[in-house]
Amino acid sequence: MGQDQTKQQIEKGLKLYQSNQTDKALYVWIKVLEKTSDPGGKFRVLGCLITAHSEMGKYKDMLKYALDQIDTAREMEDPDYLTEGYLNLARSNEKLCDFQKTVSYCKTCLNMQGTTVSLQLNGQVCLSMGNAFLGLSVFQKALESYEKALRYAHNNDDKMLECRVCCSLGNLYVQLKDYEKALFFPCKAAELVNDYGKGWSLKYRAMSQYHMSVAYRKLERLPDAMECCEESMKIALQHGDRPLQALCLLNFADIHRCRKDTDKAFPRYESALGIMTEIGNRLGQVHVHLGVAKCWLLQKDFDKALDSLQRSQELADGMGNKLCTLKVHCLSEGIYRSQGQEEKLREQVVKFLQCVEELELYCGMCGESIGDRDQKLQSLPCSHIFHLKCLQTNGTKGCPKCFKSSMKPGFV
Ligand SMILES: [Zn+2]
Ligand SMILES: [Zn+2]
Repeated sequence: MGQDQTKQQIEKGLKLYQSNQTDKALYVWIKVLEKTSDPGGKFRVLGCLITAHSEMGKYKDMLKYALDQIDTAREMEDPDYLTEGYLNLARSNEKLCDFQKTVSYCKTCLNMQGTTVSLQLNGQVCLSMGNAFLGLSVFQKALESYEKALRYAHNNDDKMLECRVCCSLGNLYVQLKDYEKALFFPCKAAELVNDYGKGWSLKYRAMSQYHMSVAYRKLERLPDAMECCEESMKIALQHGDRPLQALCLLNFADIHRCRKDTDKAFPRYESALGIMTEIGNRLGQVHVHLGVAKCWLLQKDFDKALDSLQRSQELADGMGNKLCTLKVHCLSEGIYRSQGQEEKLREQVVKFLQCVEELELYCGMCGESIGDRDQKLQSLPCSHIFHLKCLQTNGTKGCPKCFKSSMKPGFV
């Protein structure tokens, strides 16, 4: 198969894919992959297969095609192809929660000396890197990466990228427990979808609704949370978007748990866990086990709660997610305290304090912790994070942590 025919067949697959005939599209693309003699065409068709498998949640296949793609790029020795190939490798590892690998592939991308074509990808690289740092609970670096991604989005007028970064920022502020900002950013994403998203895939709308729903739940606005989550789930079902379906199920379960309705929560946790195990979303699985543990606590079944916490901890340790490990120790501490098990309690307290130290979640001004309750936070352009109230009393002096002079609040 020559260059022209390859191009034609890729286009044919794209049309099928866009009209929701995914199986037929995959068939056409895999045939191209077998028959083409054009390396550029092979690279592009692998790109199509990577995107399709990512959206279906088939992350292991996604990684396999990304590895083929980087081999093709290496044969072609073209920096633009290499950058795109490494970005796809980074993304595949991000989806499989292999966050260290994601960070290192992103760094490889940023060090490539490509043309303007690959420079345009840098925003996406920064977003992926931010997500990986967030997965490792390295909040300041996550924030720094998101800031850079936003700057690329603004400079290139890339509203889709801006929308995705806003959703990720929502996720970051949920974790830092500034719920006002956690709601602000996905609302901003939803606005972008309304203003510019006529031609976009509906998944952007679904994604922003999902993140809004999580923030509403944290703000204890449960009817709003329910409404957004239903909207998101509806689109996820229409599009066969398994990864988002799993996240929505988890969020539905959490909403029911907040209403103390464990009968409704348990089966939803179980369905979410099923999909997440199948697709390889380990971070999602940790959150399911944490939610299940909290349900058992509501029912005062401490043995079952400890069992779920144990599972969360194993998965969280495997990924290097320190925030989840911290939550496990915090919940275990509560259980052992209520049971009067002094020795085990002490062990958990020590581990908990170790986590707090490693996370460096302190305000650089008052020295008090950040992210242990709902408090307004503000970052500076250097991406250091403080309590808003502390920065307001600091006046116009520079950043108290790194001594950079600008006190203008950062984008995020
Ligand atoms: Zn403070
Ligand atoms: Zn600073």
